[in-house]
Amino acid sequence: MVKRSITIGHLYPKQMNVYGDMGNVITLQYRLKARGIDTNYVSLDSICNIKKSNVDILIGGGGQDSNQGLIQQDLLSGANELKQLCDNGLVCLMICGMYQLFGTKFVTQDGDELIGAGIIDVETRASNDRLIGNIVVDSQWGKMVGFENHSGRTYLGNAVKELGKVIKGAGNNGGDKTEGCVVNNVFGTYMHGPVLAKNPEFADELISRALVQQGGSGSLDPIDDSLENLAAQIARARPR
Ligand code: GLN
Repeated sequence: MVKRSITIGHLYPKQMNVYGDMGNVITLQYRLKARGIDTNYVSLDSICNIKKSNVDILIGGGGQDSNQGLIQQDLLSGANELKQLCDNGLVCLMICGMYQLFGTKFVTQDGDELIGAGIIDVETRASNDRLIGNIVVDSQWGKMVGFENHSGRTYLGNAVKELGKVIKGAGNNGGDKTEGCVVNNVFGTYMHGPVLAKNPEFADELISRALVQQGGSGSLDPIDDSLENLAAQIARARPR
């Protein structure tokens, strides 16, 4: 049997990594190892290293507006190459601040316009109140749960599909009940938590898609998710 191996690329881990977002990497490593799949972790300080590192799953986290400003130039410098990789099916999970910057633009509270990588057709505007609390989302991967904390209101382009519908919380903009987005194999979401730890079905979706991208089967042996599901159940019942 051919030994399977997945490379996880962690984008801007110093600047964009809040509310346990690093846990998304750890969750993937855990779930891959449980299936006997080798994992390789690459910390990416520059977007230009994604292609040469042969990344299979790209993970990006949240961060303050100021930190988004710090990485924006680097992001733009490699945006074309990244767009090509995403068009070819690179699996990405972008949380909050990186979700915003994968879009076309983010207008901060000061009115500064941070041009995004334009990987996904979403646009974000900061507001003067923050959307903070636990969030529950009805999705293809079950009732997902996470924690959101953002001032940005994100609006999806007409052709962009949401990750799910908000049951509790605010989601993309607190108005249209959408949360996150899915474009090809690129997932954006406001759910911190870390989102993959409490939503094992969704975590496996990323892994399956990455294996399919390699030309293999995306099928995964089941593992015992009783603790993860219990954690999600408790989190879903928590007040906002
Ligand atoms: N700075 C962004 C906002 O507040 C992102 C916050 C975050 O990543 N948690 O909208």
